[in-house]
Amino acid sequence: MTRIPRVSQCEMTECGFNESQKCHAAGIQVGDQVGGAVAERPGVTLQDPKCDTFTRNPGAHFGAGDLIAQVGACMANSCSHNEALRCTADGIQVGRHDTHADCKTYRLRGSER
Ligand code: SF4
Ligand code: SF4
Repeated sequence: MTRIPRVSQCEMTECGFNESQKCHAAGIQVGDQVGGAVAERPGVTLQDPKCDTFTRNPGAHFGAGDLIAQVGACMANSCSHNEALRCTADGIQVGRHDTHADCKTYRLRGSER
């Protein structure tokens, strides 16, 4: 059966789904660009795989405490972990990039050692 990776840790504590650096959404979507075309969000590049589920609502307790988010879909198809817009990593880390959240497990395809 196909395994779905989870968000192992997320440092965006101001996000409404975040509690103690865990993401309690049922699932997140990452990235908002396909095939090199950057979608309508300014400042987003192919090296910028945003967590699109981020919402600035500190302490909101969105989601459910017994859930750890799965990576539902990822549009960052330039990432070596990406297969048909599905994340194949064991788990992902999410962290801060400017004012938004990025997947820090992103690896540019071809840049793997
Ligand atoms: S920024 Fe994304 S991964 Fe982090 S807690 Fe919010 S929804 Fe979850
Ligand atoms: S590791 Fe790569 S494929 Fe997985 S969510 Fe992050 S950017 Fe997307």
